[in-house]
Amino acid sequence: MTDSNHPASLDTLLQHTGVAPFNDETGAAPVAMPSMRTSTVRFASLDALDRAQAAKARGERVVTYGRVGMDTHAALEQVFCDLEGGRRCFLAPSGLAAITVALMGLVGGGDHIIAADCVYGPVRTLDKTVLQRMGIDVSYGRAQPQALAELVRKNTKVLYVESPGSLLFEMLDIPALSAFAKEHGLILAVDNTWGSGYIYRPLALGADVSVVAGTKYVGGHSDLMLGAVVVNDSGLAKRINDTHYAMGYAVSADDAWLALRGVRTLPVRMREHAGHALQVCEFLACRPEVVRIHHPAWPDDAGHALWRRDCTGSNGMLSVELRFDDARARRFVNALTLFGIGYSWGGFESLVQLVDGPALAGHGYWEEAGNALVRLHIGLESPADLITDLARALDRAA
Ligand SMILES: *Cc1c(COP(=O)(O)O)cnc(C)c1O
Repeated sequence: MTDSNHPASLDTLLQHTGVAPFNDETGAAPVAMPSMRTSTVRFASLDALDRAQAAKARGERVVTYGRVGMDTHAALEQVFCDLEGGRRCFLAPSGLAAITVALMGLVGGGDHIIAADCVYGPVRTLDKTVLQRMGIDVSYGRAQPQALAELVRKNTKVLYVESPGSLLFEMLDIPALSAFAKEHGLILAVDNTWGSGYIYRPLALGADVSVVAGTKYVGGHSDLMLGAVVVNDSGLAKRINDTHYAMGYAVSADDAWLALRGVRTLPVRMREHAGHALQVCEFLACRPEVVRIHHPAWPDDAGHALWRRDCTGSNGMLSVELRFDDARARRFVNALTLFGIGYSWGGFESLVQLVDGPALAGHGYWEEAGNALVRLHIGLESPADLITDLARALDRAA
């Protein structure tokens, strides 16, 4: 489709979607959608309110109260739908909140979830602290149809995965997992924070639900927490819509505005992050301390063929396995000056995380060999400077 409503390129669409409509009287509109802060909505008449309530009962996006959010929220929902290729989007105050509203919308007491063993760590905490208490069981396994088949129970409802997986960026075969889910009547939900809809689109590959932490590349500036759940199917949309409303998930208009502001530059940022990360991979591959680089766009990565098949780009995330004991790995991380020591990623800046053993213990993809694993987010700094910093820190760790 190449008409003006559906430009061929996502880059173009991202600059033209989610914009403010023209004012009927003045024929003018702000170029940048303002932050429309309000706690509630007022109606011109009871008839107008009744019409809104009726549309809401049909599951349409109608605002009768502030929690749903007005134009700024609607614009951001449209952006997520365009990015992910979905029909409905639900915003949440964090990426993790997006995961909770998706799961709460899809399962209930007595149900069973199969989760990929490479999912974002806090999902296991959600399982241990809340899901278990509500009588929802979660089993973890390598996200490959052969390994998952033995985990399926009569009450399994959802297959929840993340691709590429957390920490090691294990590429999953979403079309194969989708076929497996269909065969067993499961809903396939994918955490697509890595791709953020721009370089990877799970819904198009057969997933039913895509969850994104907008905190990362969509916001892009390390200044907000936000999440989104995107779906195509109207039945799933209704279930998540009802849960979302009932549980009171609300996002500040200012945060929605920050995400809208950030997402306009997603294409240029993502390309820079990806280019810088590949330069860092090239440098690391030449160092004797490096055992293995985990980055799907890197030709030696085990998931490279899947990445080539399913992704349209890459980002700044990589993990490097170093022939270091813990003390030496700590010296390396402490010696870095341009990489902030901290969790999260997707912002403008480089960050480093020394991944601890327990975090990797449950990942079947991890080949435990006594090596240290360091996760890097390659930011928008000059890659030459980042490489100099890494080289110095590797030397100092010795
Ligand atoms: C950060 C992250 C989340 C959670 O997002 P928050 O906004 O920090 O709650 C979920 N999934 C993945 C893969 C993440 O990296």
